Amino acid sequence: MGRTALLAALACGMNLGADVRAQEAAPLAAVDTFTLKLPPAAAPVAGAEGSVQFIGTATVLVRYQGFTILTDPNFLHKGDHVHLGYGLTAERLTNPAIDLDKLPPIDLVVLSHMHEDHFDKLVQEKLDKNTPIATTREAAEALKRLGFTRAIGLSTWDRLEVEKGEARLRITAVPGRHGKAGMQALLPSVMGSVFDFGPNVATPAYRMYVSGDTLIYDDLKTIPQRFPGIDLALLHLGGTRILGVFKVTMDGKDGVRLMQIVQPRRAIPIHYDDYDVFKSPLSAFASEVKAAGLDKQVTYLAHGETYTFAPAKR
Ligand SMILES: [Zn+2]
Repeated sequence: MGRTALLAALACGMNLGADVRAQEAAPLAAVDTFTLKLPPAAAPVAGAEGSVQFIGTATVLVRYQGFTILTDPNFLHKGDHVHLGYGLTAERLTNPAIDLDKLPPIDLVVLSHMHEDHFDKLVQEKLDKNTPIATTREAAEALKRLGFTRAIGLSTWDRLEVEKGEARLRITAVPGRHGKAGMQALLPSVMGSVFDFGPNVATPAYRMYVSGDTLIYDDLKTIPQRFPGIDLALLHLGGTRILGVFKVTMDGKDGVRLMQIVQPRRAIPIHYDDYDVFKSPLSAFASEVKAAGLDKQVTYLAHGETYTFAPAKR
């Protein structure tokens, strides 16, 4: 599809979108539960603290209770280009804080959607094909075609129960949508995710939410209903514009709105300055945060910086 046709399709979709109502969340009975058994850690897990290291774009290393999780792996460098479909490209403006071949051993990848700024060509080529990857059903099919043998496709509210020795982690796919309703056919499906650490489902030792590339829409309100008491939210911002016009990720104001919806104890903005299509700077989010009186609940990480956390007190 050329740019003119795409613009026409998007414009048409935008009109249609006004009449399309967000679908009701599936009843819990309809969800699938998958399991992933990982080999136990070679050494006992030291300390109760967890950490979140920001590598760049939406790439984060989460380490807690012996698990090492990598989100949305993007290891291209400044000046490299990604393809976003329909002939659209974007240029990377930053470098990842760690290179792909310098990563610690990864237990699993959680991928919000299949766009090259979240799972780039380098990662497609170099990431171990046996790495477990929890993602959308659509992305899991694409990953299988690329030779990844352990892609787990999740629909909204599906769960992945992860075991590693005595340690337990549950990952749940939660609503996320990359564009307005009518644009869905042109954009990949997206999932947010909730990580619940610890064996007790009702009182997780720590509850983390990753927004994925989503805009604000009604279904997001079901996340805090099913997952109250989120300890940490990672917010994909950037106010990404495709064709310079259509917003497909949250800008600063949306980021604050999402905080008000999911009510996390703390939030960390990510996915904010790495590509030339990211049009809403971090400073826009920071001023919205201030205006909303949420300063004390936000931690800002530069690329490479780490946030450490203790288990939640409940
Ligand atoms: Zn993105």
